[in-house]
Formats: sequence, C-alpha cells, structure tokens
Amino acid sequence: MFFSLDPQERRLFQMIGNCAARLGVPAYVIGGYVRDRLLGRPTKDIDVVCVGDGIRLAQEVAGSLAPKPKVVVYSRFGTAMLHFEGIEIEFVGARRESYSPDSRKPEVELGTLEDDQNRRDFTINALAISLQENTFGQIIDPFNGLAHLEQKIIKTPLDPGQTFSDDPLRMLRAIRFANQLGFTIEPNTYKGLKQYKSRLHIISKERITAEVEKILQTPKPSIGFNLLFDTGLLHLFLPEVTALQGVEDRAGKAHKDNFYHTLEVLDNLCKKSDNVWLRWAALLHDIGKPPTKKFDEASGWTFHGHEWKGAAMVPTLFRNMRLPLDSKLDYVKKMVMMHLRPISLTKEEVTDSAVRRLIFDAGEDLEDLMLLCESDITTKNVKKMARYLEGYEYLKERIALVNESDRLRLWQPPITGEVIMRTFGIGPSKEVGIIKTAVREAILDGIINNDYEPAFQKMIQEGEKLGLKPVL
Ligand code: ATP
Repeated sequence: MFFSLDPQERRLFQMIGNCAARLGVPAYVIGGYVRDRLLGRPTKDIDVVCVGDGIRLAQEVAGSLAPKPKVVVYSRFGTAMLHFEGIEIEFVGARRESYSPDSRKPEVELGTLEDDQNRRDFTINALAISLQENTFGQIIDPFNGLAHLEQKIIKTPLDPGQTFSDDPLRMLRAIRFANQLGFTIEPNTYKGLKQYKSRLHIISKERITAEVEKILQTPKPSIGFNLLFDTGLLHLFLPEVTALQGVEDRAGKAHKDNFYHTLEVLDNLCKKSDNVWLRWAALLHDIGKPPTKKFDEASGWTFHGHEWKGAAMVPTLFRNMRLPLDSKLDYVKKMVMMHLRPISLTKEEVTDSAVRRLIFDAGEDLEDLMLLCESDITTKNVKKMARYLEGYEYLKERIALVNESDRLRLWQPPITGEVIMRTFGIGPSKEVGIIKTAVREAILDGIINNDYEPAFQKMIQEGEKLGLKPVL
C-alpha cells in the first residue's frame, strides 16, 4: 500500500530521499508520524530512520535547505535533529537493541530496517514509509499495523513478554495509547501487562509520571486509570489512589467505593477544565479517606478530617512521583484541603462572613475550587443531583454579591466628602452623601471615567442640581 502524501510533504520527503540516495543509505519515515497521519490526527515531529549514519543524513539534509537550519546532534544516542518550517525532524540510524534483565539501557548495534521495526513498542508504531526512489511512498508494515489501526488494536510486534521486559515503560504506553486513541489492547498483549507488571520497577519515576500525565490529559482519563488498576500497574506507583478501592459493609451500612467515585470526579472535571494540576487534585482529592476511615455505630462510616489528612499526604506523593515541589504542589494541596468547603456552604444557612472567608482562603483559585466541588457530585439520584447543583448556583450568586459589596466598600471614588464640602463651602450634610453617591454611580455605570477631573465636573453638576455653587 502507498501512503497518500500531500504536496508539501511529498516535496520534503523527496528531498530527504534524494539526500539519502546521495549517501547511499535507504531512509524511511517511521513511527508516530505515520500512525497519526493515517489516523487523521494532528502530527508534529517526523522521525526518519536510515540504514546508516543518521547524523550524517541530517547534515546532508540541512545542507540542501535554505536557509540552512542548525543541526542539533545527540552523539550519545546517535541521533540528530533539525527544525524546518515549524516541523521538528529527527534522524537516526536503524538499530538493533538487546537488553539485559536488570537494565533499561540496551546494547545498541547498527541494524536493518527490520531490526529497527522489531524494537518498536506496538505494531501501529512500527509502520514506515519508504523514501527510496523505486519504492517511494510505500508503507512497510511487517506486523499488520495497518489492519490494527483499522481494528483499533494495541498489540506488541513481538511476544509481549519480550517487548515489555525489554522496556517496561511500554506497558504504560500501551494503556496511554489505548486511552488517547480509543483503542483496545489485544488480549495477549493485555495478559502480558498483568504478567510483566513487576518489571516496572526498573523504570524511573520521571518517565512513569510523564505517561500518567498524558493519561490525565485525555478527555476521559478513567479509561486509562481503570486499565492501570485492573492490570495491577497503578498499585506500583500510586498506592494512595488504589487504597481508595473497595466497599466495606458493616451491620448493613456500606460506604461508596472511593476509587470509582474518584474516577468519576476526574472525568467530570475533565469536561470542565484542561488544567492538569486541577486534574491531579481531582485524582488525589480523597486520598485521605482510607487512613481516616472509622465506623460509628450511630452514623455509620465516617472519614472525618480526610481533607486535612489528604493534603498532608500530597507532598510525599509529589516527591515520590518526581512532581514539582513548587507552587504546583501548594496549589494541589490547597485544592485537596479545601474540597469540602464550598459544599458545606450550600447546605447551611450561609452567612456573608462564611462566604467572605471562602473567597479569602481560596483567593485566585476560587473558580478552580468550585469546578472541583461541582465535579465531586456523583450521586445517581436525580433529585439529589438537582438539589446539589441548585445549592451551587445559589452559592455562586452569594459569592458574586459578597464580592460586589466588598468591592464597593473598599473602593474609594476620586472625589471624597472632604472635597465636596470644601468646594461648595458646606458642612457634613445629606447633600454631601447625595453628591458622593451620584459621582460613584456615574463611575460604576461607566458614564464617566474613574479619574479626578471628570469626577470633579460631575460633582459640580450634581451640586448645581441641589442649588449649590462652588465657592472656590
Ligand atoms: P507521543 O508523541 O504521543 O508521545 P509517539 O509514539 O508519537 O507518542 P514518541 O514517544 O516520540 O512519539 O515515539 C516515537 C516512536 O518511537 C514511536 O511511535 C515508537 O515507534 C517509538 N518508541 C517510542 N518510545 C518507545 C519505547 N519505549 N519502546 C519502543 N518504541 C518506542
């Protein structure tokens, strides 16, 4: 099968193909670019593999472009990269990799295209397009990747045992791709995830976290987290989250399964916000529940103080996951700690000062906190849902009202009572209040600018309406 290239792509690929021909090295576009183009997804980087020296090919290509782009060489990896018309193109020599059981770092030797395709993680990521003149545009698909794209299947090119033990990060990548692309993991590959999960221990936390964040950034991360849970992978790096799973029933009183509740909250939030830190907060908002869980004969299961406990657990979790220990950590901690505050204000007879305290404590993150709290409503009872949402709308109105009255109280118009009394030669009186209010309202309504001169003129006009004349 031939790849249908658009004209710009054809020109670029032909040029790379010509450079490769000059050097006598067969070259191919391979991996994610081919997959995403065939799926009609937006593409970014192009990976070019050649049977020979990838760095040399990058230099040859750069020399054929005007203006000549800078070639960034990563000699340790034998790769080189350049930017052309906003596209990042990476060049690498085809390689064969062999792994030893304890290390992530493979022994690398030069290899054929076939060797290079064998070391790819999934059949859909092993597709290559030929840039050679006689086969230009032909898709080289040794593992049925095209059919798997069609069938929406994630499958390892080799035996899953080999692919996953060679680089166990591929297990997380399988789940991430399934989630991102809406694909199913082929049964034997899925079995491999369960069987080889413990190999994950040789992978650095940074790489694990990068995959988790990609799952968090999908529109429906519960798909990925459910797969992570069912395969047992999640238990290996986020035990605080897996501890949420389970229902305990005592004397006919059961609590909800907080793991599935958390995933619902997360999906709800993802419909409202792309902020990945708020998504982390949704994932972690209830992690204080397992350690605070108690059974009370009268009231059943309680999780008193779980928001405080959860917030206190966040820094260790961030450290373990190599997440940033800066304002992002403070933000997630704050969200976890405050996640019950708004709901309590929808229930009670709310006082202005309680609302004001919420506004003050949440500060600039109030809107995010409200999104998290709204997402936390997962009741299946339609009537209850309507009541809770109504409570939120009411709270939002109260917040707006308190904000407005505070703004008015704190805000000082440019004309003070002092100026009015001096200008008209009058003492404290009803007129001073009337003029002051009229000037303030004119500014708030946008009739005049919030500056001294127009406010002064407005004051004179208003004074005249009351029969006052300036004495100065
Ligand atoms: P994304 O850009 O969404 O992270 P991708 O697959 O498009 O995913 P890369 O992660 O840059 O992009 O990988 C490019 C290609 O390199 C992949 O399509 C795959 O062929 C190969 N690859 C990347 N990581 C691995 C891995 N851990 N094991 C095997 N092959 C890999």
